[in-house]
Amino acid sequence: MISQSYWSICCPIFQEWRYYAWYAGGYVDHQPPEFDKPTDVCFNRRVYGPCEISGCNRLSMVFCGYCSKKICFQQFIVDCHRCTN
Ligand SMILES: [Zn+2]
Ligand SMILES: [Zn+2]
Repeated sequence: MISQSYWSICCPIFQEWRYYAWYAGGYVDHQPPEFDKPTDVCFNRRVYGPCEISGCNRLSMVFCGYCSKKICFQQFIVDCHRCTN
């Protein structure tokens, strides 16, 4: 689960969010533009309904930032969804 969480937050759409840590810590001076946090994207209120992986009949629980699909717990966490490979 830790590996899957790490993979998720490495998604390019979270670049400004990751950069913010450097800004907040005083290591860089340039304030990043507004950004969405992983919780805003991956667990937003629109993440419900059927899993969007082909052939799956389960309910979704997370939004994948890489492939923009809503995915069930079984395929995202247990089966370690990696659409970037
Ligand atoms: Zn994906
Ligand atoms: Zn599924």
